[in-house]
Amino acid sequence: MNNEESYLKIFGIDLGTTNSVMAIVEVGQPVVVSNAEGFRTTPSVVAYTKNKDALVGQVAKRQSVLNPENTFSSIKRFMGAKYSELSLEAKEVSYKVTGDDRDNIKVVCSNLDRLFSPEEISSQILRKLTNDVSLYMGQQINQAVITVPAYFNDAQRQATRDAGRIAGLEVKRIINEPTAASLAYGLEKKDDEVVLIFDLGGGTFDVSILEVGDGVFEVLSTSGDTKLGGDDFDRKIVNFILKNFKEKENIDLTGDPQALQRLTEAAEKAKIELSNLSETTISLPFITAGSDGPKHIEETLSRVKFEKLSEDLINRCRLPVESAIKDAKIDRNAINELVLVGGSTRIPAVQNLVSTIVNKDANQSVNPDEVVAIGAAVQGGVLAGEVKNILLLDVTPLSLGVETVGSLMTIMIPRNTTIPVKKSEIFSTAQDNQNSVDVEVLQGERKLSKDNKKLGNFRLEGIESASRGVPQIEVTFEIDANGILSVTGKDKKTGKQQRISIQNPSNLNKEDVEQMIKEAEESALADQQKKDKIDLKNQADLLCYQTEKQLKELDIKDTNTVTKINSLIANLRESIQNDGFDNDSIKSMMQELQQTLQTLLKDENTTPNSENEKTNKENSDDDNVIDTNFTEE
Ligand code: ADP
Ligand code: MG
Repeated sequence: MNNEESYLKIFGIDLGTTNSVMAIVEVGQPVVVSNAEGFRTTPSVVAYTKNKDALVGQVAKRQSVLNPENTFSSIKRFMGAKYSELSLEAKEVSYKVTGDDRDNIKVVCSNLDRLFSPEEISSQILRKLTNDVSLYMGQQINQAVITVPAYFNDAQRQATRDAGRIAGLEVKRIINEPTAASLAYGLEKKDDEVVLIFDLGGGTFDVSILEVGDGVFEVLSTSGDTKLGGDDFDRKIVNFILKNFKEKENIDLTGDPQALQRLTEAAEKAKIELSNLSETTISLPFITAGSDGPKHIEETLSRVKFEKLSEDLINRCRLPVESAIKDAKIDRNAINELVLVGGSTRIPAVQNLVSTIVNKDANQSVNPDEVVAIGAAVQGGVLAGEVKNILLLDVTPLSLGVETVGSLMTIMIPRNTTIPVKKSEIFSTAQDNQNSVDVEVLQGERKLSKDNKKLGNFRLEGIESASRGVPQIEVTFEIDANGILSVTGKDKKTGKQQRISIQNPSNLNKEDVEQMIKEAEESALADQQKKDKIDLKNQADLLCYQTEKQLKELDIKDTNTVTKINSLIANLRESIQNDGFDNDSIKSMMQELQQTLQTLLKDENTTPNSENEKTNKENSDDDNVIDTNFTEE
């Protein structure tokens, strides 16, 4: 084996709300890998057809108009969230979102008559990317680095990890998207620079300020909005058109999923065009029918109007930038580079806004669609030992702490602290003769503990009776390089201690995940079996055809054997008509047919016609074969 290639390959995945991108280090350099269809980005869309086939990526996106309820896009918005936490706006998708008895989110797939968790839908995207990268590399790759928005909490990160596991991936590391972007960006950089990464994608917004230099990336601060992205801009245009249509035709299209889907696609197209043009038209013939015949949408939209419609969205980009600058404790003039990431940063008004705040033009040398995946691949290369001289310092995205008297959150590790990190603090009892304390571990920025996320808890018992405030309980928070938090409580007097490791704050419990992995593997197996069956059916069919052809071409005296062959053919043909046929019995029938034919040919002292080779090839695309490939179109 070539030494150069003997590294264990770990590829990078930018698992985006709208689009996903994959990259891998090849001969020391990160490269974006095209999917099987030949595109560098893959729409993060999964669909199930009436025939119960799963479609992923471009094929899924393309049929979304006809099958909106079974087409799952923007699933990332639901990852690791609870149903009761969802805003009305978040539920504005073409498919049905519901909650189960544990308040976990499920999406409804009517074509399969079942529910899916967001993790399962995501796993379909990851599975496709994994298959495609393996195809490209000519070897099975099953280790990956996956990126997530900086503001993802532990449940969301864990959900992403679970999606990877369901897809059969070993997720080596979850890293922040802006960190990945800076990692890709900083590769060629040598001097110390302060970089502001502004990432506005389809569904999320992240701002990060980093210090980059000498192969070290240090995140100074992060901020953002998990519910702001290009989808919101699309929705502004959609609502504008809906309103105009209602006024003009007195027809409300909001209840018509097909019309809405078409409108959403047209709105996105118009938005993209307005990044380069000052005016565009949205034209949707036959959008619906009124009592007086078909209705059409024909609207002109100017960039100025679009900017008016989306003014509040543009303004919402301002605050996170300001707070990131404040958290980094730097002057805005100290920012050396402005890096734009994500498709929505191509909107001129967005570029203007950020350039004005930072007082700097954006650096254009980074491809905004690919930079995150490139960074993830670099991190993969670092973990595999293929890329050297890079030390990545990551930070905690949210503050971590414990609940103290009055149900308040006391912060142990503030957000934006570089990890790995270890911090201890002494607490005491709140009442006289209190023999135990409950340590409740929290994550978030809110003052009251109930407003933050509970990550876990434990009870430290056996504290010797004493007046309140006397016992000394040392609480230690430790986060390792993988971002896994462990919390220890120790009674200084007795030395008794309790420890919890918080690494599975996932919505899905272990059994759920294992069940989903099993199902995914089974369905992969079932797909393979289906394919094997179709292949076998084709082979059998071809054999029957060729044998008949050969019989016809030969002048045969042994009519007994011919009769036998014909009956074997008839049997075989009939057997493969039944979809539930047994592979082995088909194989043995084929073998018998072949052997009988061979005997006949030997007896007749004839050699097989050389024409047959050709016939064989010509027939390799008969009806059945085309049928097999149809789903891959
Ligand atoms: P994500 O990281 O969320 O998957 P991307 O970075 O792929 O998102 O960005 C997708 C978003 O960018 C979509 O909302 C898309 O409409 C938008 N977008 C892509 N190109 C342009 C453009 N030229 N002008 C405006 N928006 C664009
Ligand atoms: Mg992105």
